Amino acid sequence: MSFPDTSGHLSDERALHFRSMCCFIVPPGVLKKYSRDPGVDAATRKSLQDTYLETERLRGLREAHRIATLRDPERFLAGAAVHVPQQHLFDCMHRKGLPGKAVAAPAGGFKTVFDTTAKVVEFYKTVLGRNSVDNKGFDLASSLHYSKSYDNAFWSGSQMVYGDGDGKLFGEMYLSPDVIGHELTHGVTQNLSALRYEGESGALNESISDVFGTVFNQWLNNWPVTEPRGWLVGAGIMAPPAQAKGFTCLRDMVQPSAKHCLSPQPELYSQLDPTADVHENSGVPNKAFATFARAAGGQAWGNAIKVWYDTCINRALRSDATFSEFAGLTIASALKFGGATLQAQCRSAWNEVGVVLPNP
Ligand SMILES: [Zn+2]
Repeated sequence: MSFPDTSGHLSDERALHFRSMCCFIVPPGVLKKYSRDPGVDAATRKSLQDTYLETERLRGLREAHRIATLRDPERFLAGAAVHVPQQHLFDCMHRKGLPGKAVAAPAGGFKTVFDTTAKVVEFYKTVLGRNSVDNKGFDLASSLHYSKSYDNAFWSGSQMVYGDGDGKLFGEMYLSPDVIGHELTHGVTQNLSALRYEGESGALNESISDVFGTVFNQWLNNWPVTEPRGWLVGAGIMAPPAQAKGFTCLRDMVQPSAKHCLSPQPELYSQLDPTADVHENSGVPNKAFATFARAAGGQAWGNAIKVWYDTCINRALRSDATFSEFAGLTIASALKFGGATLQAQCRSAWNEVGVVLPNP
C-alpha cells in the first residue's frame, strides 16, 4: 500500500482539505518515516501506516470550526454567565466512531484523562484567567481507545481523541500531561486568532500548543525553568522500546534538533523550509519561548507565559501571522509585564533563533 500523494493534481476542495490539517501531536512525517523503516517490526509499521492514513482522513475536520471562529466577532469576549466547564468521557472501544460510548464512572486511563484535563482547566483559570478553551466554560469531551493501536492524539475541533499507541514506538497517548495541554490549547487558538494551519501561521499554531502544553506540565510538577524535563514534548508517550533506542521525547524546546527527539526540528529561521510540515517549523518559535523563559528565570508560568498569552489574545494577531509579526507582539507585551528588562530578554530570544523583528 502506498501513501496518498498530497503534492498536486488535486481539486480545489481536496487541496483545501489537505492544507487544513487536524491538530495531531505526532507529525505525519514521523508516522510515514517509521512506517517505512525496515528496523521497525511489521505489526508496528502497519499501526503507523494505518494511523498515517487515518490522520490524512481527519485533516479536514478542523477547518470548518476555524472558519466558523473567524466569523464570530465576539470570540474574544467572555460569556456573561459564568459556566463551570463539565467533562464527558467516551470509550471508542477500538472503533473510529466519535465520540463513542459514554463512560459513567471513570477508572484507569479514563480517570487519568479526567484528572489531567481538570488540571488543564485549573491552569487556564488560575494562571491565565481563562474559563476553558473558549473563555465561556466550554464543556470538554475526551474519547479514549480510538481505533486499534492508533499512534496519535488530536483535537478534532470540538473534542479530544486519544489512541492507545502501538506499544513499540508510542504508548498510550494521554500519559504525557503536556500532550493533553497541547491539544486543548489548539482549542484555545481556534477560539482566538484561529491561526491558519499552514506555513508560518501553522508553525505558530503548533508552537503555541507546545508552549502552553509544556508550561502546564512544568506547573503541574512545580518544575523551575532550569528543569530540562519541563521542555520535552511527549516524553510520557514514548514506549519503552523507543526509549531504549535513545528517543526520550517527540520534541525538545531547548534543543529542537537534538538526537533524542523522535521528531527533530531546525533551530534557526534561516534553516527553515517554508513548505515543511507545521510541526517541523515550530521548533524556531519553541526555542525562542524556551530561551526567553529561561532568561527571565524562576517559573515559566510567571511573566513568560503571560507575555505569550497576552499575544494570543491580542486582536492584532492575524490568522495568517508571520513569525516576525508574532515576535513583535510578544516584545510589546513583555514591556507591559516586566518593563525594559523583560522586553530586552524577549527581543534577544527572537534574535537568537534568527527571526527578523519588525521595525518598532
Ligand atoms: Zn498540535
